[in-house]
Amino acid sequence: MHDAWIDKGQEVFLQNYKPLPIVIERGEGNYVFDKEGNKYLDFVAGIATNALGYSYEPLKKAMKDQIDKITHCSNLYYNEPSIRAAQKLVELSGLSRVFFCNSGAEANEAALKLGKRYINKFVNGNKTEIITMKNSFHGRTIATVSITGQTKYHEGFAPLFEGITYTEFNDVEALEMVLTEKTAILMIEPIQGEGGIRPAEQSFLKKARALCDALDIVLIFDEVQCGIGRTGTVFAYDQYGVKPDIVTLAKGLGAGYVIGAIIANEKTALGFEPGTHASTFGGNPLSTTAAGVVLDALVHDGLLEHVKTMGAYLEASLLELKKRHPSIVEVRGMGLMMAIEMDSPVGNAIAMALDKGLMLINSGTHIIRFVPPLTIKQTEIDDMIHILDEVLSPQ
Ligand SMILES: *Cc1c(COP(=O)(O)O)cnc(C)c1O
Repeated sequence: MHDAWIDKGQEVFLQNYKPLPIVIERGEGNYVFDKEGNKYLDFVAGIATNALGYSYEPLKKAMKDQIDKITHCSNLYYNEPSIRAAQKLVELSGLSRVFFCNSGAEANEAALKLGKRYINKFVNGNKTEIITMKNSFHGRTIATVSITGQTKYHEGFAPLFEGITYTEFNDVEALEMVLTEKTAILMIEPIQGEGGIRPAEQSFLKKARALCDALDIVLIFDEVQCGIGRTGTVFAYDQYGVKPDIVTLAKGLGAGYVIGAIIANEKTALGFEPGTHASTFGGNPLSTTAAGVVLDALVHDGLLEHVKTMGAYLEASLLELKKRHPSIVEVRGMGLMMAIEMDSPVGNAIAMALDKGLMLINSGTHIIRFVPPLTIKQTEIDDMIHILDEVLSPQ
């Protein structure tokens, strides 16, 4: 199988990616097809992004209708799809005000700016430190790569954005030590995504909330990957009973269309006034139409219930698989954000699975993660397990 477009791609792109050698053409249901007509069962979903699969007719119809009306108008004016989507986010989150942007990194940038400006204006200008977790991932801009607690992402970019300390995830005592009167912002992924699908412990998030309240620290949850139904609730924090001051979103929010967002509580929202932050494309009527359809699907079309059922089924299936394969060290995750940790690197297994018509993605060297469309079916989970079983069996 060789496609001349692959050679062309290697010529014309910067070399920051190393794609697998197929050229994607279209999707159908929870399957993706390449240019040669090969069919792949999709457990990647464009990296936890194509939440509704590829044949969700209400999404297609809404997007086509919106394209016929208008796709962009800037934030100099109001548009109805963005107001509708923001209203839904406010209702579902229990937070108060929304800012739309275009990606996860931009959402985290916006949250950092809002948090910093709120602290500066309303709390204490001497509070400047930012605390994030070791093994975290928050994006690829200079600020978000700086707050990402993995040195491999920092290499070659010094000097980084300053005043950041990384602390041990799920370590309450370390958190008590590191948060001080000087701390402005604490940022946590309730489930670390790129860091290996590691859920926070409830005691850790509860302690984080309590310390942030006591010390006037802005608590930001990065739910770019784990939010918007991925774990079986709209927000992962719903399952912890802990509310952040700001939550950041992207990936699944647009079901494959480009969007990011932050939602802030009323207090922290005071940090922005006209002119303090902006995004030209942010909140455009096309991307927010997609978000509106996704949020309706979660709540009104029973998708959240489906994620809970399928998530439990996926976990049980992976635990069964683990019994047959001692090379699987651990099964972990929540909802349709699951992973297996292996006793050796997973690159070959992922390439072999692709050959057998299954798309998988790693999360670190030894971990395979499972982040399919939220519309994934039980029979498709069975098919995935069947292929994975073959791939993991000694040849
Ligand atoms: C993917 C991701 C980001 C970055 O999102 P982009 O849209 O690639 O900028 C930030 N945080 C988390 C938790 C992510 O998974």
